Amino acid sequence: MVKKITAVFFAALISAAFTACGASREYSSDFFAMDTYMSVKTCGTDATGAAEDEARRLETLFSVTDAESEIGRLNANGRVDASDETVELIEKALEISGITDGALDITVYPAVRAWGFTTGEYSVPSPEKIEELRDLIGFTNVKTDGNTVSVPDGYMVDLGAVAKGYLGDRVRDILKNEGVTSAIADLGGSIVTVGGKPDGSPWRVAIRDPNGDGSFGVIEVKDKCVVTSGGYERYFTDEDGVKRWHIIDPATAEPADAGLLSATVIGEDGALCDGLSTALFVMGAEKAEAMWRKEGGFEMILVTITGDVLVTDGIKDSFSLSEGSPYELKVIG
Ligand code: AMP
Ligand code: MG
Repeated sequence: MVKKITAVFFAALISAAFTACGASREYSSDFFAMDTYMSVKTCGTDATGAAEDEARRLETLFSVTDAESEIGRLNANGRVDASDETVELIEKALEISGITDGALDITVYPAVRAWGFTTGEYSVPSPEKIEELRDLIGFTNVKTDGNTVSVPDGYMVDLGAVAKGYLGDRVRDILKNEGVTSAIADLGGSIVTVGGKPDGSPWRVAIRDPNGDGSFGVIEVKDKCVVTSGGYERYFTDEDGVKRWHIIDPATAEPADAGLLSATVIGEDGALCDGLSTALFVMGAEKAEAMWRKEGGFEMILVTITGDVLVTDGIKDSFSLSEGSPYELKVIG
């Protein structure tokens, strides 16, 4: 029997409903960094270069495929003397692991790699290999002592689930320091807005349809992050015709399978939104809803495999489904 594995790589780019800066002059820059396409638009003041520089700087700290990055050195040696910034992001990710009951786990990297999501050479690991991989996952084994970060033998760390949200936080701060009061950046599925549009109206951010190329709805925001995790971003289809995507359930070392096609988190803290979006995708709608009630501080839009779009109460008035959308909108209140 011929094994047929089809592989698809989609840039994580969400088609944000960017509209012009109105009467203000618009500056924009598109670039490729952190393994994804990014796009920054500022109104009135040109600071897009600073945003791109920041993406490249963070890549030299966090890239999991660059052996010279701080994370690359941690993974090669089991320990590294890291910058304050890397230690802080690791500690923040570990905190999010705590509140999501381990759904976010930065030690999933051996599994991410074994399934081929790093190289694009996709394959389904054997049951024995999966068992081995499960033994190499466990965020509580990541230790920080001052600036020294260490992991047990065979463990590897991947900040991919929080890095683009953290970049969003940095880009927002940099743009504000440069005097920008109106901007929107799409950092590969992590969208950050500064203020609203120059005319005072909110930015309109389109959310990618996980079942197609377009978007399924628009969320209006000011000064917020909108971060989406979706199976469609990077996946392959296995020999049984099942889509296997890059978001791994740390409990099984296999691609998450909790009934969601995408999870979008809206909030103020980009790194938190990013970590949560990945975690919610792993947790599924029921646990996500329970966490939203318990923790609060964020809003979410979940797309289920059964065709529902679940939107939390706090954003029900700023979210609209696209006209003629096949999805059914349900409010979680
Ligand atoms: P995101 O696009 O933010 O959802 O992050 C997904 C990326 O984070 C994947 O490409 C992996 O590199 C990594 N990853 C996958 N599953 C997890 C998980 N459960 N916890 C933490 N990182 C993950
Ligand atoms: Mg994430």
